[in-house]
Amino acid sequence: MEHHRFLKPDLARLIAREHGTPCYVYDQAVLEAQADAMLGFPNAYGLTVRFAMKACPNAAILRVFLAKGLHFDASSGWEVRRATLAGVPADRISLSSQELPDDVVELLRQGVHVNACSLLQLERIGKALPGHEVGLRFNPGRGSGGTGKTNVGGPDSSFGIWHEWADRARDIAEAHRLKVVRIHTHIGSGSDPAVWQEVSEASLALVGRFPTVATLNLGGGYKVARVASEKGTDPAVIGVPVRAAFEKFAQADGRRLRLEIEPGTFLVANAGAVLAKVQDVVSTGAREFLKLDSGMTEILRPSLYGSQHPVHLYPETPRGGEREYVVVGHCCESGDLISCAPGEPETLAPRRLPEAAAGDLCVIGGAGAYCAGMSTKNYNSFPEAPEVLVNRDGRATLIRRRQTLAQVVQNETPAAGP
Ligand SMILES: *Cc1c(COP(=O)(O)O)cnc(C)c1O
Repeated sequence: MEHHRFLKPDLARLIAREHGTPCYVYDQAVLEAQADAMLGFPNAYGLTVRFAMKACPNAAILRVFLAKGLHFDASSGWEVRRATLAGVPADRISLSSQELPDDVVELLRQGVHVNACSLLQLERIGKALPGHEVGLRFNPGRGSGGTGKTNVGGPDSSFGIWHEWADRARDIAEAHRLKVVRIHTHIGSGSDPAVWQEVSEASLALVGRFPTVATLNLGGGYKVARVASEKGTDPAVIGVPVRAAFEKFAQADGRRLRLEIEPGTFLVANAGAVLAKVQDVVSTGAREFLKLDSGMTEILRPSLYGSQHPVHLYPETPRGGEREYVVVGHCCESGDLISCAPGEPETLAPRRLPEAAAGDLCVIGGAGAYCAGMSTKNYNSFPEAPEVLVNRDGRATLIRRRQTLAQVVQNETPAAGP
């Protein structure tokens, strides 16, 4: 069977020996290549690429992108603080949050860029810091995502200021002398490129209503193919009509807008994998199951979205044949499933894999985005898995240790006893 792109059997065995399983493994060369692809995004009058850090917030990953010249998108005040701890300067961070942090004034004073994501958020910023610069996140009226859970635009989505309330937003900004310098739209993860392009036009129309805006942020959501049946979005292609739209806008309006984009998935998804071990092979007569020492504790996306992730098996000893296996996780939850049907978390979809036995290593690919940062942490009291970064010279460096049991329970108070 085909090996995983960067986590080949020898490296997998080395990392398993040194750091144990399950373990996240990232590849610096892939991270940098993806950053380069996004830095080449077509643009007319300047480009800022922000890594949507919620996709993979480990400091070592942030620093790889910082060195590449990327900026950062934070989804909460906590993420802003985390980026700061990792060494990201405040003026390289932009906050678009469902929940405005209590210390937003301090963040703004430090130079963090804040996009007000609701009229109330805008009002709170205006009251606290009249005259300050601010961005506005709009819901442009349309959304598109790989699944309903990741579609964050349109009338059924709470994200951003509804586009028809642009006048109200302008009134609030004027009442507090806020200078609106940025318009922001982000319509979903895994969005349809055609919808994204249409929304770009609608976003330019919103810019037209705010004469002080100099930057248009078109969010993230660019697709990657994790398995062969999926089709990724090519930034070099989808950016071309948007560049033309910026030029047309400049001719009509006079403003040469800077473009900001905020990819998360695109930068990290295929730069990460989960290294696991087969800990059991069981049969019901009708089905054969491969049970891993990993699952929704490291990779929740199949159970949550019905996401497809490639599975590579590295048998300890060659056995010849192949079999159909349903690949499942180690949690006491029948929904802890790696091999489900696309978009159907509850439908088993066996994978054709080499004949397996307990002890074999298994690599789950496409696990760089929304895995280490989004999992059922400590469910069944499994400790948080370590993270390893494979540097350009092929060396595997530990970038997060495995949690200990003491750490799992460390915040329980003595009052938790009888
Ligand atoms: C999550 C998010 C992104 C990144 O989305 P991807 O699908 O990972 O590219 C960008 N911008 C905002 C505001 C987000 O919430």
